Amino acid sequence: MKKTFLVTAQDSLSSARTGKIQTPHGVIETPAFSPVASQGTVKALIHSQVEGLGAQVILVNSYHLYLRPGLDTIAKAGGIHAFISWPNPIISDSGGFQIYSLSPLVKVSSEGVKFSSHLDGTRIFLRPEDVVDIQRTLGTDIMMTLDYFLPFPSPKAKMKEAVKMTSLWARRSRARFDEQPTAQLLWGISQGSVFWELRRESIEDLLEIGFDGYALGGLGIGEPKSDLLEALEKADALLPKNKPRYLMGMGYIEDILDAVEKGVDFFDCVLPTRNARTGTLFTHQGKIVIKNQKYAQDRRPVDEGCGCYTCQNFSRAYLRHLYEREEITSAVLNTIHNLHFYLDIFQKIRQSIQSNSYKEFKVYLQTQIKEEVR
Ligand SMILES: [Zn+2]
Repeated sequence: MKKTFLVTAQDSLSSARTGKIQTPHGVIETPAFSPVASQGTVKALIHSQVEGLGAQVILVNSYHLYLRPGLDTIAKAGGIHAFISWPNPIISDSGGFQIYSLSPLVKVSSEGVKFSSHLDGTRIFLRPEDVVDIQRTLGTDIMMTLDYFLPFPSPKAKMKEAVKMTSLWARRSRARFDEQPTAQLLWGISQGSVFWELRRESIEDLLEIGFDGYALGGLGIGEPKSDLLEALEKADALLPKNKPRYLMGMGYIEDILDAVEKGVDFFDCVLPTRNARTGTLFTHQGKIVIKNQKYAQDRRPVDEGCGCYTCQNFSRAYLRHLYEREEITSAVLNTIHNLHFYLDIFQKIRQSIQSNSYKEFKVYLQTQIKEEVR
């Protein structure tokens, strides 16, 4: 297997580390946050803004792109990078989560998963091999295996079945991936929720098969925080240090800080972008709900110390006005701020690990973001 990950600094008081993921379209510095661009765009922004905010990778969704515009269109354009004109790294979700969460009538067998398109009800059958083929056609830098996702809480017996299926599919995904040489990377997804014996079995199966990176799926979906932390700690001890770890869909800064401490390298979440569009802005003094009347005459920027374009130029009063008038610009300016907030924190996380002061930084940030906005 090719070497695609390099640890560049290790925190001496925790498992936090910085690293570099080498992809066909460039390097991703870790710990990394990938903005979500399910349909090939970070909602409300153009790519130059996303790049300008410091995003080194975006996450597209195989399920959505497979349904629309369809693989033919993207293949004819020369792949996803050319089709959407984003020259930097792209990771694609296998679509597993979307299949189980958006589709009615999902039927899972060892052969694959049958589901109805959430658009028009068409029945679709996908094998794990098909999902590899889809991502090969997309040409994404990092491909994810098809997994069997269950909501929280799910009975242990059912979860055990899901883990077995996920391992079987991971093995078949790897075999399909190996049939043709490619510079793309393939990461495996573990399941098992917070049942440690199941999670361990899932991770051990993936390690035996061998992947370029290892994802923890099915977490951050309502399980108790203490269980999540325990799972992360045990996974940290089990996973090899020389491969990147991805905690899928985890978006609260609090949780991200804990996960980084347990050696997680890669994150994605819709939280900053989705919240921006619904008018919730993150600041170092807590959240701001911009529609609130109390901001109507507030001349201050969203976040006093923030260097983003939005905070450098506009007041809370103006942002509230745009939001209330449902102006498109509201989504743009809010997204710029929220994404800057996230990517700036990741930049600082990396700096603090490099200067061996991650724990201090974590405590400092935790006390800051807990304070309420007055
Ligand atoms: Zn800002």
